[in-house]
This record gives sequence, C-alpha cells and structure tokens, in this order.
Amino acid sequence: MDTDHRIIAVLALRNAHRVVIFTGAGVSAESGIPTFRDAGGFWTRFPPEKFATWDGLLRTALTHPRLLAEFVLNVIEPVAQAHFNAAHAAISQIGRHLPTTVVTQNIDGLHQAAGSADVLEIHGSLLEVIDVGSGDIVHRFQREELTAMATSLRRYVAGEQSLLSLLMQMRRQYPLDWRGRHRPNLVLFGDALGEPAWSRACTAVEDCDVLISVGTSGAVYPAALLPARATNQGATVISIDPQPVAGCWLQGAAGEVLPALVLDAFGH
Ligand code: NAD
Repeated sequence: MDTDHRIIAVLALRNAHRVVIFTGAGVSAESGIPTFRDAGGFWTRFPPEKFATWDGLLRTALTHPRLLAEFVLNVIEPVAQAHFNAAHAAISQIGRHLPTTVVTQNIDGLHQAAGSADVLEIHGSLLEVIDVGSGDIVHRFQREELTAMATSLRRYVAGEQSLLSLLMQMRRQYPLDWRGRHRPNLVLFGDALGEPAWSRACTAVEDCDVLISVGTSGAVYPAALLPARATNQGATVISIDPQPVAGCWLQGAAGEVLPALVLDAFGH
C-alpha cells in the first residue's frame, strides 16, 4: 500500500467533521456475496438486457422460467446466508466516532446488520417489498425467509419439483400483491434511484469533508458520480479496492484495509 496515501487517509479521518462512506458490492465480497463483475462472468450468464430490467425479467419469466429461477437463486442465496464482515463492522465503528452517512449500492442489508445507523440504500433492498404507488415498505424479510425461497428455487432448478409447485410455494413465501401493487424494492437498469435515499445521499455528499469509497467499480450511474461530486466540493476522497483507483487509493480487501484504517485513525 502506498504509505503517502495511507497517511493522507488517516489524517483526513482524524480531522473529519462529516463522513460519507460510499459502498459497492466489494464491501460484501468477504461475506460470501460475489460481486457481479468478479463472479465468473455473471453478466455473461445472465445478460443485463434480460435480467436487469423489469421488462426483461417478465419476458424471461414467460420464455425461460428455469433460467430466471437460476438467476434469482444466484442473487438471493448468498444474501440469505450472509453475515456482516470486518469491513461492515469497521464502517459502523467510524459512525461511533464521527457523524457518518453510509450510502450503499448494495441490496444485502449488511450495513444495518453491523450496526450502522444512517444507511441510504440507493439501489433498494432485497429484503424489502414495497407498495408501487406510495413506495411504502409493506414487508421486510428475515434472512431465513430468503433461505426458504432459495431452497424452493434450487429444487425447481434441479428438476426436483414442477414450475406450478414452485409458483404455489412462492405465493406463500413472497407475499406480493398479485394485482401488481407490490414489488421487490430493487432499482433495476433504467429505473430512477430510490427516494428519498438518493436526494439525501446527494446532500450528505455536499456536506461531507471526507468520502470513503469502498469496493465499487464506478460503472453504475448515477451512483458513480458521488465521489467526483465530493472532490469538486473540496472533500478528501479515499478509495479502498484491490483494483487500482485514481487518487488516494488504499489497495486491498475492505475487510483488512478498513479495520487497520480505523485503528490508525482512532486507536481502537
Ligand atoms: P462491481 O461488481 O462493479 O465492482 C466491485 C468492486 O469491488 C470492484 O472494483 C472489485 O475490485 C472490488 N472488490 C472485490 N473484492 C473486494 C474486497 N474484498 N474488498 C474491496 N473491494 C473489493 O460492484 P458495484 O460497483 O457495486 O456495481 C454493481 C451493482 O450491482 C451495484 O448496484 C451493486 O450494489 C450491485 N450488487 C450488489 C451486491 C450486494 O448487494 N452485495 C452484490 C453484487 C452486485
């Protein structure tokens, strides 16, 4: 790791007044949730035009239901089984030292599980079902409920049960309103970002003096604009990722780099 960057990061954090921690899939990689770009060609197996838009999902459900089930299984099973890791815990610890807003692109609920208080999920949450009209949360899943769904999906994908039987189980396990009033709280390609989370995230970035970006490739917009916005208004931006990032970059896995940074900045 570049020593200068590490010193800049420690001093910035020690002297910060308001921090934004901006996270992507990489922060949950050590919890066993693969990132889409690292997961052995996830987007090649499940192309975004078929699997990352509501229209695409509907078409795939009608034409290739088993493939859709395989996709959903790949998304929900790792989240169902995940526990927060050392990176989520270190982020929560920063929040105990400084006013901190966590802006996450993740849908796995692990920042809240680790104890972070102010978490903005700008791409929604796999754990929630919302009312389409009002945006209100109408159901919040326990991870065990997702595990039960994953078991049903796995049995269908393996050919051990019929589509009809899967659909009947899903009706019980996933309490959607079948007249279309409820849907998963997920922001797919082409959707507007979650509100008020996105507006609050923009305000938090305008007000912060340090932004720490963790485990994001910066390929998904408009979320990827946030670090540059922080730089433009004079904040110090620190990036933590195994892959090179321009600017103040702490190279490595978030679960190793973040706890060390917290230790250096705050002494515990
Ligand atoms: P991405 O897959 O584009 O990039 C992941 C980044 O994490 C890469 O830069 C990679 O080098 C880095 N990384 C890998 N392992 C890491 C580790 N141990 N520590 C730190 N960094 C690590 O992810 P993205 O930029 O978040 O964009 C993909 C979209 O899909 C986002 O909306 C994302 O939230 C969503 N997604 C979410 C989850 C989740 O909720 N856990 C998982 C996969 C994808």
